[in-house]
Amino acid sequence: MKKTFKNNSKIAMASLLLVLCFWNHKVIGQTTSEYDIVLEGGRVIDPETKLDTIKNVGIMGNRIAQISSAPLRGKQVINAKGLVVAPGFIDPHIHGVSNKEQEYQLHDGVTTALELELGVPFLGEWYATRQGKALINYGASANWGFARLQALATYPNEILELKQSVADGSISANVSQTTMGISYDKTLDAAQTQKMLINIKNDLAAGGIGIGVFIGYVPGATPEEIFRVYQLAGETQATIFSHVREPNLTAVQQAISDAVLTNAPLHIVHLNSMTLAKIEVGIEMVQTAQKRGFNITTEVYPYTAASTGLWSNMFADGWQQRLGMSYQDLQWVATGERLTKETFEKYRKTKGTVIMHMMKPEWIKAGISEKGVMIGSDGSAYAPLAHPRTAGTFTRVLGKYVREDKVLDLPTAIEKMTFLTAKMLEKVAPSMRFKGRVQVGADADLTIFNPDKVIDKATFEEGLKFSEGIEYVIVNGVLVLKNGKTVENVFPGQAVYGKLKQ
Ligand SMILES: [Zn+2]
Repeated sequence: MKKTFKNNSKIAMASLLLVLCFWNHKVIGQTTSEYDIVLEGGRVIDPETKLDTIKNVGIMGNRIAQISSAPLRGKQVINAKGLVVAPGFIDPHIHGVSNKEQEYQLHDGVTTALELELGVPFLGEWYATRQGKALINYGASANWGFARLQALATYPNEILELKQSVADGSISANVSQTTMGISYDKTLDAAQTQKMLINIKNDLAAGGIGIGVFIGYVPGATPEEIFRVYQLAGETQATIFSHVREPNLTAVQQAISDAVLTNAPLHIVHLNSMTLAKIEVGIEMVQTAQKRGFNITTEVYPYTAASTGLWSNMFADGWQQRLGMSYQDLQWVATGERLTKETFEKYRKTKGTVIMHMMKPEWIKAGISEKGVMIGSDGSAYAPLAHPRTAGTFTRVLGKYVREDKVLDLPTAIEKMTFLTAKMLEKVAPSMRFKGRVQVGADADLTIFNPDKVIDKATFEEGLKFSEGIEYVIVNGVLVLKNGKTVENVFPGQAVYGKLKQ
């Protein structure tokens, strides 16, 4: 009885507080409240409610507290006239997980950058190293390749090195080489498969956002192994982020059929480089699955070149035929030079990266313009001549594809970079429910840009450069970019965790 009473009085107190808050909000909210930050007179675009009009936005703490046509008082007032106020861009596909890459992304309007294609080894430890230190929000999936590497138990030194690189922050450069590279041709037996699945479960419990399954780099993984991983994803509803087995439609069909068989949520990464000239059919397959009620989605990046390790299985014998490329289509990131047969063979023995000029502009256009297809950068770890997508993906969509080429309209482009991605992710990472929206109660992750000027500046020839036209970026209520410049010594980025975190 006593306990019930105590609970009841708690509920009564909570209700009273709510009523008071509501009263306070109603009576004095719009006129006398002083918000921490007010964005005045911007074109506010919210993809979920289709709001697209001039409004004032009031931010209190880490949340959006008011959206109003009436004037708002703020401790700090930002004149947003002539600018667009959009939800902060969400990148579901990055590989550089340090502040070096995050600063480029910040100038590209990104407020949440997630490593989901590969994931990060020693996930719990990695999340801890980023706490209180990140410019923008961060998170990663369970790395399937690492889970199988641990199950194979034949690479203790490499696993120790990975652990060290998580601790010292050099993980961005190391993760792919080890988890994609060394066990690529190894096949797991039944006992190892069970161990691998347990390892994945542990990483999901450590906060992993779904499972990164990059079979394209690990041909030793049998259809049975992959089916078991999808079964686990179906049981736990942890999304599979798949780089499919080969760059063709058969591999896309394989991924979709495993997802349909197991009810696993599936997100196929960079569909443009996986389907090449057949991108429209690839998208049709994804859309057909969606129409039948399956939780299957995809993304593209706005460039005609891919990028990966020259050492990787991508360049095993027969690569020219598989990828429809030749030596001179490969650009060596360390120097920017195009390769020949001789330099290809020399550099393949090293740990470097190449840019692969392999796609046609019309394929990319088809991907970007299609309804429901998200934008993900696939940005690599920092290098001066790295693929420009690390720095320019989102502003390139807005500047080139929206403003210059008129491939799609501005609200649709913003939806593909924010709300659609949040909606896909919130099923596996519940905190994403508060992102990708400009609504009262949503996280104050906002990107304020000049639609007439926004453009990417990074190029294949000159490498990474900050984008232009992104004027202000707010992450969890904190200004991280102001007048187009990084604000020093603020680290408001918060962890995004998967729903199975214990
Ligand atoms: Zn990939």
